[in-house]
Amino acid sequence: MTRDLSTDLIHHPYLPPAGFEAPQVPVHKASTVIFPNVAAVRSRDWRYKGGYTYGLHGTPTTFILEERIATLEGGRQCVLAPSGLAAIMLVDLALLAPGDEVLLPNNVYGPSRELARQELARWGIRHSLYDPMDAAALVRAIAPQTKLIWLEAPGSVTMEFPDLAGLVAAARARGVLTALDNTWGAGIAFKAFDLGIDIVMQALTKYPSGGGDVLMGSVCTRDQALHEMIKLTHMRLGLGVGGNDAELMLRSLSSLPMRYRAQDEAGRELARWLAQRPEVARVLHPALDGAPGHEHWRTHCSAAAGLFSVLLDVRYTPAEVDAFVDALRLFKIGYSWAGPVSLVVPYELATLRGAGRGGLQGHLVRFSLGFEAVADLQADIAQAMAAAFGG
Ligand SMILES: *Cc1c(COP(=O)(O)O)cnc(C)c1O
Repeated sequence: MTRDLSTDLIHHPYLPPAGFEAPQVPVHKASTVIFPNVAAVRSRDWRYKGGYTYGLHGTPTTFILEERIATLEGGRQCVLAPSGLAAIMLVDLALLAPGDEVLLPNNVYGPSRELARQELARWGIRHSLYDPMDAAALVRAIAPQTKLIWLEAPGSVTMEFPDLAGLVAAARARGVLTALDNTWGAGIAFKAFDLGIDIVMQALTKYPSGGGDVLMGSVCTRDQALHEMIKLTHMRLGLGVGGNDAELMLRSLSSLPMRYRAQDEAGRELARWLAQRPEVARVLHPALDGAPGHEHWRTHCSAAAGLFSVLLDVRYTPAEVDAFVDALRLFKIGYSWAGPVSLVVPYELATLRGAGRGGLQGHLVRFSLGFEAVADLQADIAQAMAAAFGG
């Protein structure tokens, strides 16, 4: 029987030899997964990595990435989401129901708070803010309906490093689950699960990607029952990640420890230099002496992200601060961090601290280190300061 060419181009008899191995994990792409027979359709369980059922439930590429991220975080299980924010949403929707309350630190990643304020609220889930620098305040904030406490170390933008062990102890004493946004620590600076944290989320978009070109998030656990709750919600929400993105992430992941240390070293060098500048009122970098929560950073961490904020002196006008940021040449204006290009973003202090506390004054500018030479970055800041502030 002869078949038409259009059929043969799809159902071709050739199979390459098995056993191909190469340094990089191959990209497997699928919505459809082909089963050998009906019995396989009936017997395969998509929940465990025992086989393949549908692209949304995983491919060899995403399974390998999940296992490696779980190892990075010191967890046992991992699910991937299409962005860091989607990973935060996944945790919230998996664990919260109408009538429940979630607690967020008052220096939380802004979009996480907006998610609670605008979306969770519509489903009858309340949120409250707590001061992460006061474990006793967290104890007081926990109510009978509190089902989840988010942690972040350090806080987004204002960079206070909390007493994680104290916050976890407060949550555990009341039997409330804790979830950490570990984007800053990236699984390198400290081991979150060893502190008793239940769920560790990360924006893989930042350090693990390291290229400024992939969006992805992860949710890791050590507890199988907790993982299964998250995994079921993940499936029902349809949070898939693409094969090409997973491959890019795997390619970068192998250099993460080296990149983290290099950007840490560069960040501290630049932060120390900035602390000496007369234009700078304060440098907010948790590894620097005198920074908010520096003592907790010292207790918990062996490294720091290449990310810090500075408070420029109050004597400058907002327009002068904007002119300074615009005058930077190597530092590009843009969100995210941990890619090859150094980045800068000015923030309005007034919009950052939930309760308006924190005692910070000045104009806040956040810097993230890329891979450029520190001396060149220093020269760039010096010329921009001269251009915008004179002298
Ligand atoms: C970037 C970021 C996120 C969100 O990640 P996206 O992939 O951009 O959605 C969450 N938390 C922190 C601390 C971040 O820096």
